[in-house]
Amino acid sequence: KRRDPGEVEFHQAVTEVMESIEPALERNPEYRRAGIVERMVEPERAVIFRVPWVDDHGDVHVNRGFRVQMNSAIGPYKGGIRFHPSVNLGILKFLAFEQVFKNSLTTLPMGGGKGGADFDPKGKSDNEVQRFCQSFMLELFRHIGPNTDVPAGDIGVGAREVGFMFGMYKKLKNEFTGVLTGKGASWGGSLVRPEATGYGAVYFAGEMLAAQGKTLEGTRSLVSGSGNVAQYTMEKLLQLGSSPITFSDSSGYIYDEAGVTPEKLAFIKHLKNVRRGRVREYVDAYPEAVFTPADYGLGYNPLWAHKAECAFPCATQNEIGRLDAENMVAGGVRVVTEGANMPTSHEGVHIFLDNGVLFGPGKAANAGGVSVSGLEMTQNSMRLSWTRQEVDDRLKLIMKTIHKVCMDTAAVYGKPLNYVVGANIAGFVKVADAMLDQGVV
Ligand code: NDP
Repeated sequence: KRRDPGEVEFHQAVTEVMESIEPALERNPEYRRAGIVERMVEPERAVIFRVPWVDDHGDVHVNRGFRVQMNSAIGPYKGGIRFHPSVNLGILKFLAFEQVFKNSLTTLPMGGGKGGADFDPKGKSDNEVQRFCQSFMLELFRHIGPNTDVPAGDIGVGAREVGFMFGMYKKLKNEFTGVLTGKGASWGGSLVRPEATGYGAVYFAGEMLAAQGKTLEGTRSLVSGSGNVAQYTMEKLLQLGSSPITFSDSSGYIYDEAGVTPEKLAFIKHLKNVRRGRVREYVDAYPEAVFTPADYGLGYNPLWAHKAECAFPCATQNEIGRLDAENMVAGGVRVVTEGANMPTSHEGVHIFLDNGVLFGPGKAANAGGVSVSGLEMTQNSMRLSWTRQEVDDRLKLIMKTIHKVCMDTAAVYGKPLNYVVGANIAGFVKVADAMLDQGVV
């Protein structure tokens, strides 16, 4: 904290991991002797750069770009790029730190990184977004490569932005390589990558329930967000018989008591991905639903107070505070699966664990996205494209494996069903052992 003052989210993410891995450090004193933890919390490299761009009126703007290359012990750095006004070094370090453990859990050879800029794509024209992405890549290209660092999408970065960045990288390097994932299906992208994070989160919830002899069938689910992860979480929930009754964006949330149907979901996808509109427009099409504007002064989000059995936070970090967690427990939520990264505050996590809620932490539950990114890298290296079925089968198997390793590890360390402990220790040990093998570098 002395070295990185003000990096609140990074401290939060590190604290959570440190609390859990203590028993692993005790079992293997070599980790302490080799300074594994001290090295893990220091990025191998972090670059900060100017991103100047010209808007449609000819005015010049300057944003700040970042790439945090956290750990490459088990493979090239891998992690998304976020474009959001809140982006700063501390947030990207938290995301890169989480990514190291998540990527370790996927069973694929990927290190951890994260990047982005404090650019707000909202309200920008396609041409402005294109110019920004090109300017961003004009610097980033020096630091990445298919065997060095392979970025992907995250908040504010979807297929459109990945396309613009890939085009600029290809022009600068004069080579067509798998340097980014989340590419279009006709130019090196993997089928099921857009769906992978949301689908994976629901598969993970299904596995947690199956271990208790239960299923998602007939349940109601609270979902937050309405972007990539939220949309495909809702899609898979519908396929597996759960009814999503809420979703949101930063301006407020929708409560649809009758549940989002496939037809309503198609409306949401068009609204958010094509028209780039706000969720409140949903009630114009479906007047039986209720829109509640966001009130950040309230101290809690009423979205989480609706009665349901399952919850899938899929928007952003720290969207579930203490009061939200208490409301969820009181409202009957028995399963919380993090589609987003660290959406639950530290206090919230403890409330869930203390009340016997099955809690799937993001680094395990939302690892489906980076897993299929890993599969995209494999397909690019082989210059082959797998079928949708093949990728989805692999995704299912990976989520099943992640669930099992988390559950088994939690049990071995005397914390049965504590997926936080399971994910943190299992993710940590693999990276720590690789670092031991590779010496002090
Ligand atoms: P999108 O940009 O597609 O969607 C983000 C959604 O969250 C939007 O509805 C957005 O609303 C809302 N949101 C973002 N920031 C805030 C905020 N500060 N306050 C309230 N609402 C907010 O992003 P993704 O769906 O890709 O990402 C969502 C989460 O999932 C993030 O935590 C991301 O790190 C995580 N994740 C994503 C993966 C992926 O494959 N895309 C993989 C693993 C994790 P608005 O439009 O109003 O900003």
